[in-house]
Amino acid sequence: MAADLSARSNDELREYALTWLRDNLPAGWMEAIDAGDSARISELRVAQDYQEWCTRFGESGLATPTWPAEYGAGLSLSPSQARIVADVCNRYRVTRPMNIIGIGMGGPTVIAWASEELKHRFLRGIATNEEIWCQLFSEPGAGSDVSGLATRAERDGDEWVVTGQKVWTSLAHLSRYGMLLARTDPDVPKHKGLTYFVVDMHAPGVEVRPLRQLTGDAEFNEVFFEEVRIPDAWRLGPVGDGWRVAITTLMNERVSLSGAGSVIGDSSAVRPIDRIIAHHRGIADPNLRQRIVQAWIDERLVALNNQRATDKRRRGAEVGPEGSITKLQSAEANQRLHMLEVDLAGAAGVAWEGRPLVGGDGTMSYAAVDDTSRTAARLFLRSRANTIEGGTSEIMRNILGERVLGLPKDPDPSRDAAWKDVPRNG
Ligand SMILES: Cc1cc2nc3c(=O)[nH]c(=O)nc-3n(C[C@H](O)[C@H](O)[C@H](O)COP(=O)(O)OP(=O)(O)OC[C@H]3O[C@@H](n4cnc5c(N)ncnc54)[C@H](O)[C@@H]3O)c2cc1C
Repeated sequence: MAADLSARSNDELREYALTWLRDNLPAGWMEAIDAGDSARISELRVAQDYQEWCTRFGESGLATPTWPAEYGAGLSLSPSQARIVADVCNRYRVTRPMNIIGIGMGGPTVIAWASEELKHRFLRGIATNEEIWCQLFSEPGAGSDVSGLATRAERDGDEWVVTGQKVWTSLAHLSRYGMLLARTDPDVPKHKGLTYFVVDMHAPGVEVRPLRQLTGDAEFNEVFFEEVRIPDAWRLGPVGDGWRVAITTLMNERVSLSGAGSVIGDSSAVRPIDRIIAHHRGIADPNLRQRIVQAWIDERLVALNNQRATDKRRRGAEVGPEGSITKLQSAEANQRLHMLEVDLAGAAGVAWEGRPLVGGDGTMSYAAVDDTSRTAARLFLRSRANTIEGGTSEIMRNILGERVLGLPKDPDPSRDAAWKDVPRNG
């Protein structure tokens, strides 16, 4: 069970993680990793009871090592201590909980802003993957400028009544709870009239409709709210201060999308760049050789910038623009990498046999997380979303221009006007 391990030495933490994995991974798993037997790992992963594993892993605290142990999931570790246990989990390619939005953003936002009661209510379910979370920010008329959103929340006694529409909501079809940003005061400028709630995705009036992507998967959805009731006790932060709460979510989103916040990393066999180098070491085409080297450099730069951000957090500093640097870098590097993989594969690069990660019935396709079913074409198509999701590359460049280079702010004539007076479509 989760316990406060913050006083343990680095060696003790490594030993704790190794012992826990030895006692809990299926028999033969660690030996197969040590022997480099990827086929055996795939077999063991397919045979593994996914949710049962996620529950045990979450309760151990290893899925969310920086979370306070007192809420039933977490080891109360600093980011650098967490890195030690994460490295052990990565080395042994533990199966990842699919609740990446809950673990990467929902939990950190709850920890920063929720009441003690809500922390006890929500954190364990997020860490164990038993309660999937989604992020209900973007709307048809508010994506990059999410502060302009139109979904309304009106107070009714001890409750709020929500009506409106969200879009691009990843995992909403599987989610138990959502992080909802809604407009509670249209008479003040757009950033000031927002309030942040946790919403029960099973509440009456919530309708989720899937949207199909380029890859054929339906990872994200439209979500409609028709007079959905939310208790005031499920509000995070003060009324009208939702933008500040949303910043906590967005900062954590950038860090988690860049790979820096990844608690257990990628459970696939090898890093894509290592796979490319292993397969194409002898390639003669100078252009492709140059692109392989560039992909290796990209990977190192993202890793070093992530390390820089981790060191900053270790010193107790807040996550700053580093998240935007690595989000921008890793999104663009990932697209170059998967374009390269398709080019290197030649005719086979257009072949299509990947299985979706999440099936139509909402169950996880365990085999899909292993390399054999990840075709170059699927990864190439999925990577197109990297420079849009979590904030576009243009928006990341705006943030870096303003916050790192000190350039003048992007002009925004609607910034100080009452939201209701800002012209909008529809
Ligand atoms: C795979 C995927 C998953 C997603 N999951 C979620 C989710 O779970 N929850 C959620 O809330 N949202 C989610 N999103 C939405 C995502 O955050 C938005 O798509 C993104 O913020 C861009 O908003 P938009 O699509 O409305 O584009 P717009 O904001 O309309 O932008 C259109 C274009 O204009 C550019 N642009 C806009 N403003 C500026 C500016 N000021 N300066 C320069 N260029 C600008 C943009 O860079 C872009 O190229 C997801 C998106 C994708 C692709």
